[in-house]
Amino acid sequence: MKYQEVNNYINGLFVPCNNTRIEVDSPLTGEVISAVPLSTYSDVDMAVQAAKSAFPAWSAMTSKMRSQILYNYRQLIELNVNELAAIIHEENGKTMDEAIAEVRKSIELTEFACSIPQIAVGDVLEVSVGVECRSEYAPLGVVACINPFNFPHMVPHWTVPNALALGNCIVLKPSELTPVTAMKMAEMLKMAGLPDGVFNIVNGAKEVVEAICDHPDIKAVSFVGSTPVAQIVYRRATSNLKRCLALGGAKNHLIVLPDANLELSASDIAASMCGSAGQRCMAASVMIAVGNVNPIIDKLCTETSKYIPGTKMPPIISHQSKENLIHYIDEAEKKGAKLLVDGRKFTNDESANPNGYYLGPTIIDWRESGSKMPDNEVFGPVFEIISAKSVEEAILIQHESPFGNAASAFTQNGAIAKMVAQQASAGMIGINIGVPVPREPFSFGGWNASKFGAGDITGKSSLGFWSQYKKVTSKWAKQEITDWMS
Ligand code: NAD
Repeated sequence: MKYQEVNNYINGLFVPCNNTRIEVDSPLTGEVISAVPLSTYSDVDMAVQAAKSAFPAWSAMTSKMRSQILYNYRQLIELNVNELAAIIHEENGKTMDEAIAEVRKSIELTEFACSIPQIAVGDVLEVSVGVECRSEYAPLGVVACINPFNFPHMVPHWTVPNALALGNCIVLKPSELTPVTAMKMAEMLKMAGLPDGVFNIVNGAKEVVEAICDHPDIKAVSFVGSTPVAQIVYRRATSNLKRCLALGGAKNHLIVLPDANLELSASDIAASMCGSAGQRCMAASVMIAVGNVNPIIDKLCTETSKYIPGTKMPPIISHQSKENLIHYIDEAEKKGAKLLVDGRKFTNDESANPNGYYLGPTIIDWRESGSKMPDNEVFGPVFEIISAKSVEEAILIQHESPFGNAASAFTQNGAIAKMVAQQASAGMIGINIGVPVPREPFSFGGWNASKFGAGDITGKSSLGFWSQYKKVTSKWAKQEITDWMS
């Protein structure tokens, strides 16, 4: 095995455990690279007890002291970008360039957390003569973060640095498909000076997630993954009276008009649908063609030919996921949709191992099919085209989607772009941009079935999720003038 077996990380140590293990294979080759334990409630409990013991000292530190440790951590990530990216590349399959970009995004997220002492400062006001009200952000206690496979480093950095900066102690549950990266994260946090017990990892699958939702000492749960699981987690955690923010899947619509810039639109859409082999919740999924946009579609088909499986286009996460995608394409064809680009037939470059789970870019045109495009998430390098007679109709179609992560407009007409931005039912809007991820300090989060719970998961919006507001009202001296509030 390329990497040592994954263990849980509890109280500053990797703890060997006797649980059943499942193999972790690399999508690049299909070879087994590690093994991950399927932990149980008692493992989660061990991690929670460690976190509970660490909480009094950690939460008593000033936020500036905590952020000093996060500064150290940020520097360690910077020094180890390539090593981290190599692990992500190996276990997730994304290209080295994409993996490096992922780690760079984690650095940006950590920098935001370092700035929390400047942002989460509370207010103070003399509310009556001699009476002062002060507000402050107090930590929650032990919190948990549950993660998907597609960004094994960045998605944990959506939550961990902010939750730590605000004084919480954490139990992290990585995806069982990509658990190796998180071990490095634990090592680096310790090297940065994080006290033992403040950050813990419990590996596994469904049973660990259920234990997190049920454990009485976990105060808040963040989840990122598919919509069906997000719903399960949100229901179970909140029914146990926990705070929960659960981000789900997506099917992102691009409303494309004939006046859109031909070159830029085609290359941007191709990059959005093919990057990480389409396994991004912000990937371009559906074009709603308003009027005749065939020149853009033709150019898009040409652009996708640059994404040759191998160096430029990574594999799908698993053999099963690849089979599911092929099944979706087969069914679309049976329903009369036309395959403008057929990823089932691809030629890879010499860097692609024949045992890797590769699939080529695919463009499915439903416009003449007489069938309705399914509204479920596809999550692969599969882009679908439908049509609308007007922008108003395109917006109505977007509204029918159960999801609401991202929506984009491709046009040179500012009024139409503004109309789409105002009326699309999605949390993140792109204007002439295929992956409209808001950068810090703006927050990340979708609408509808792409997110359950209040607020967003990153940026300023996340501060409220990882903390509770405390209000202190004080009066020290007897005052001549008093009123009813004194
Ligand atoms: P997933 O839902 O299969 O798994 C996510 C986590 O849930 C994993 O840790 C997994 O172990 C756990 N899990 C899986 N099945 C479970 C069950 N039945 N009960 C309890 N826990 C369970 O998601 P994935 O395949 O790892 O990731 C891809 C999905 O994540 C896509 O749907 C993608 O759109 C979504 N995603 C969304 C965002 C966002 O910001 N909205 C970001 C990244 C990924």
